[in-house]
Amino acid sequence: MSLFKKFVDKFTNKSENAAPIKEIEIKESDWDELTTDLIQSDLGRELTNELVAAGKRSKEKPFQAIKSKLEETLSKKSRETNSGIILVVGVNGTGKTTSVAKLANKLPGKTVLAAADTFRAAAVEQLNTWGQRIGVEVISGPANSDPSAVAFDASKKFIETGVDNLIVDTAGRLHNKADLMAELGKVRRVIEKSAPVSEVLLVIDATTGQNGLAQAQVFTEAVEVTGIILTKLDGSARGGIALAIEHKFDIPIKWVGTGEGVDDFAPFDAQSYLSGLLG
Ligand code: GDP
Repeated sequence: MSLFKKFVDKFTNKSENAAPIKEIEIKESDWDELTTDLIQSDLGRELTNELVAAGKRSKEKPFQAIKSKLEETLSKKSRETNSGIILVVGVNGTGKTTSVAKLANKLPGKTVLAAADTFRAAAVEQLNTWGQRIGVEVISGPANSDPSAVAFDASKKFIETGVDNLIVDTAGRLHNKADLMAELGKVRRVIEKSAPVSEVLLVIDATTGQNGLAQAQVFTEAVEVTGIILTKLDGSARGGIALAIEHKFDIPIKWVGTGEGVDDFAPFDAQSYLSGLLG
């Protein structure tokens, strides 16, 4: 998933006997090529310009300068997932329901799920199927019931049974931002009658490119997002959107999805991600 490989390779002398390069001469056209590459990788113009400027400023160690800038870009917030009540939010189709099941399968302790995406009957069915497959209880209500009623029942159950985690799948398609804010706010308030919400994880599909930034904008305005689940990194996406989001919103990516299977899910490892990008 290297973003810089082509660029770095061009200036790295691979022959063992060759004299080391003291000062790398990078032409303006090379920087232009890198700029185009980074923008096409969904890094966004703002971050791309910052990285290229950092590289240009450092005559002797441009790659090191870009790497340092990238390190600065990543969020310094914790990438741990707090146990307790976890709300999973995001636009339909991003992989929200699948990620709820995958997360349940990874978190330590006992977990129950709440199917609060009641506007989409298929989501409730899908979560029930996942629950059976991974052996996790799913709390759901009748079709078209109020999402907050399901969330309320689930949070009561969470307290009564003393399980470690409750993961709540929420509705992803609402008419407008005001509806979304109202719905998510209500779900949260209802849950917090029983216990505080410990995490709000936003699901972003890596293949949606810059649209991911727009989604992050809407959801961060609607609810306090504490982490991101970046899905579909197995596809053609190069994951640049991850950096763009961390840069703009300072929300740490906590998990990445790399396929449709329940095990295609892992904690986000910032250092190995950066090494991957730099090739
Ligand atoms: P929701 O509408 O956001 O709840 O999305 P779903 O969980 O129903 O997922 C939508 C589609 O994306 C399904 O076909 C999933 O199998 C698929 N999907 C979810 N996560 C990933 C992933 O990490 N990689 C790939 N390739 N597909 C995924």
